Amino acid sequence: MLLEERFRALREASRRAPYPTASERRQNLKKLDRIVAANQEAVAKAIDQDFGGRHKEEILFSEVYVSLNAVRHARKNVSEWMGERPRLLDWPLWPARASLMPQPLGLVGIIAPWNYPLFLTIAPLAGALAAGNRVLIKPSEYTPAFSELLERMMDEAFGGDPVAVVLGGPEIGRTFAELPFDHLLFTGSTAVGRDVMRAAAANLTPVTLELGGKSPALICESANLSRAAEDIIYGKLLNGGQTCIAPDYVLLPAAKLEQFIAAAQSAIHRYWPDGDFTSIINEKHRARIQSYIDEAAARGVKSVAAGRAVLLIDPPDDLAVMRDEIFGPVLPVKTYSGLDEALSFINSRDRPLAFYLFAKDSASIDRVTRETVSGALCINDTLVHIASEELPFGGIGASGMGQYHGREGFDTFSKLKPVFRRYAFGLGRSLRPPYGKMHELLRKVLIG
Ligand code: NAD
Repeated sequence: MLLEERFRALREASRRAPYPTASERRQNLKKLDRIVAANQEAVAKAIDQDFGGRHKEEILFSEVYVSLNAVRHARKNVSEWMGERPRLLDWPLWPARASLMPQPLGLVGIIAPWNYPLFLTIAPLAGALAAGNRVLIKPSEYTPAFSELLERMMDEAFGGDPVAVVLGGPEIGRTFAELPFDHLLFTGSTAVGRDVMRAAAANLTPVTLELGGKSPALICESANLSRAAEDIIYGKLLNGGQTCIAPDYVLLPAAKLEQFIAAAQSAIHRYWPDGDFTSIINEKHRARIQSYIDEAAARGVKSVAAGRAVLLIDPPDDLAVMRDEIFGPVLPVKTYSGLDEALSFINSRDRPLAFYLFAKDSASIDRVTRETVSGALCINDTLVHIASEELPFGGIGASGMGQYHGREGFDTFSKLKPVFRRYAFGLGRSLRPPYGKMHELLRKVLIG
């Protein structure tokens, strides 16, 4: 079977040549840069086709640009990241030197979702290649045109080593996760993340899990409300709301509700005046999103339609829209009467992938920064933190574990191997038996 064949070939290659030089890694990253840049039009066309409508400019910025940025950042920094990292030893271990040596793990598996099919493949790939690994990728079956293009691109750039692609759905995904990779990076839903981790556990394969969840947007009294509404609407509705770090719901002071609704409606019409709105990926997801709106209507929840989006005002917590990750253009807006209430609402739920805070006063900013736990905190904007290769990206708790992007991605895909070098007769030899006067003396100095 192709999957096992490709796995075996890459694994053998990684065992045969386990430590690509800095220049080989830079060459691989250059090939990746070239193939993505050369295929940007084809990528945009394939993704547009798979979604049944996604604007080219949206794809070029939110997929192609950020992917190339990740590859170029890795290429620029790989030599420095590969360098040994010296550590100072305590004097009883002298004379000796120690350092951490970043070593490639071997073969890394990447399982990718459909919502940003290029970026969520290329960004982890850049980190894994910089760290000197072979990489086998399984893209999503929901984006067949893109996934086939990706396979062709990788074959053309690398000819099967150090990168290969296998195509398939959940069945192939399951078999993939059961293979004894040296590391697995999975991006997708929390439910499938559990299955992947269970499968990986059988091989003691370490995992990075990039999952989803409900990322809150908290608006404080001091916030600039109209700007907050614009930022939240943009973050919510980019890619039709199908973004893992999209603000899932809004919490705001009750007195600001009407003003927020008006500002949100006007932002929607300004940003998407001609209906350049990304389509929902397929019928299953359209039905799922519609069911949130229908259930809210059946329960008498007030809704406000705005372009292709729907705002649901103060939906009760037991509705599916307040329990599931929404992943579509529906925005629950909940009112609160004090910061204590808002924080206890957020902190009683799963730890989110992103937390959006809108405030101008440092007391609220400091408090929320310290008292909430999330994959990342973004203050007075949405989504943008994911675009920096200087910031690690990853969730916590139900939103994931581990991190990648930039240097932290390099470290995730490396073993930071401690190397201890003894130069001459070590002081520690004095501690070897037989026990006597020397031990008494050293005991006083070292233990007290
Ligand atoms: P999904 O979990 O359904 O599928 C993700 C990938 O896993 C696909 O390639 C799929 O074929 C494969 N798969 C399915 N079943 C599998 C199994 N049992 N074992 C192994 N692999 C299996 O997710 P999706 O619908 O493609 O993506 C949407 C989800 O991904 C949302 O929850 C979203 O929040 C999350 N997401 C997270 C991030 C992040 O960076 N944290 C980014 C994008 C999307």
